[in-house]
Amino acid sequence: MSKEKKQTPSKKTRKQKSPRLRNKAFKFRIYPTEKQVGKLEWTLRRCKELYNAALQERRDAYTMCGLSVSYYTQNKQLPEIKEIREEYRAIHSQVLQDVLTRVDKAMDHFFRRVTNGEKPGYPRFKSGDRYDSFTYTQSGFEIINGKVNLSKIGWIKIKLHREIVGSIKTCTIEREAGQWYVVLSTEYACDPSMAFHPTTKETGVDLGIHSFAALSDGTFIENPRLYRNEEEKIQAAHRKIARRKRGSHRRNRAKQELARLYRNVRNKRRDFLHKQSRKLVNEHAVLVFEDLHVDNMTRRPQPKRDENRTYVPNGAAAKGGLNKSILDAGWSAFVALCTSKAEEAGCTVVKVAPHDTSQVCSACGCVVKKDLRVRWHSCPHCGCQLDRDHNAAINILACYQKQKLNGQEVSHSSPT
Ligand SMILES: [Zn+2]
Repeated sequence: MSKEKKQTPSKKTRKQKSPRLRNKAFKFRIYPTEKQVGKLEWTLRRCKELYNAALQERRDAYTMCGLSVSYYTQNKQLPEIKEIREEYRAIHSQVLQDVLTRVDKAMDHFFRRVTNGEKPGYPRFKSGDRYDSFTYTQSGFEIINGKVNLSKIGWIKIKLHREIVGSIKTCTIEREAGQWYVVLSTEYACDPSMAFHPTTKETGVDLGIHSFAALSDGTFIENPRLYRNEEEKIQAAHRKIARRKRGSHRRNRAKQELARLYRNVRNKRRDFLHKQSRKLVNEHAVLVFEDLHVDNMTRRPQPKRDENRTYVPNGAAAKGGLNKSILDAGWSAFVALCTSKAEEAGCTVVKVAPHDTSQVCSACGCVVKKDLRVRWHSCPHCGCQLDRDHNAAINILACYQKQKLNGQEVSHSSPT
């Protein structure tokens, strides 16, 4: 780490260079006619076919002769494919190229996992209902008068519920539980040096399960527990699918119902995270988070055996509940949202290394051991009485202020 820092003294100067280009994504619902839906679905099916074929080619080359086929090799075959399979002429060439890019990315990720020594799962073939989007990467689309024009598909009604910022780079059509959306990714110039925050308030944020977040100033953001509320309905929908015969029309209908429930949860969660992150960024000049590795925290615990080699409880059931709640709360998504909103608002998002923040007393610094169930911090040494998470948030803020005093470089996170 330190080596890297020495090699890049220009990091700061680079940071000051402005304005920088940033990306944003805008998602709008579109309302295709029945005929257009047919066309969109047909396109998805062709893309899925191409994806699976391209993956098959790479897989064969790799397993049979250890070769890797490049994106360019596959891309060069597209004209040939269009000769043999005429229907592919009815799809915009960029859409087809993007399918190959997706295969390329999936393979890249796979090889990266191999080199990192992780347990790599080979990229999967996509089934019909798992291939849900296609992308125009540069052109082939336009938006005029409340309609989006997709090359080779036609004009589709679009609901532009918010203003599009920046110049549009790519356009992705998505199918989501029977509804259709267009996602526009845009690029815009952003000049962080011009942004000033109205306050100088520095705040530590402890992301938790009991309440979604506790702030060092003593406020709490309540947990919406979206998934938990819908859980019963979702489980009932799962059971319904299991009861119905495979491939039957009724089973498909039940599947769609489940997808709708999940979509509702997803939308509500997104809405919650956006609103709360906006509020935090607007009201606080510096936001300090713990640098949690949610990946590790949500991993399934290894099976445990005793000396007779019989399986003993490994805490999976308990962790299952915790896992679900962590995922439910969407912590990492939340920090990412804060970070991306922060720059333009003149707010700074900082991550500090987690360091016993829930065990240390924020008033006297003594360690007060308590397990997860204990919600109240009560210090026997100095008599400090605080909510457990509030205490942690104060510690997180203190951690940042200490680092700042010592002149240590704190890791400012940048939007991904
Ligand atoms: Zn104390």
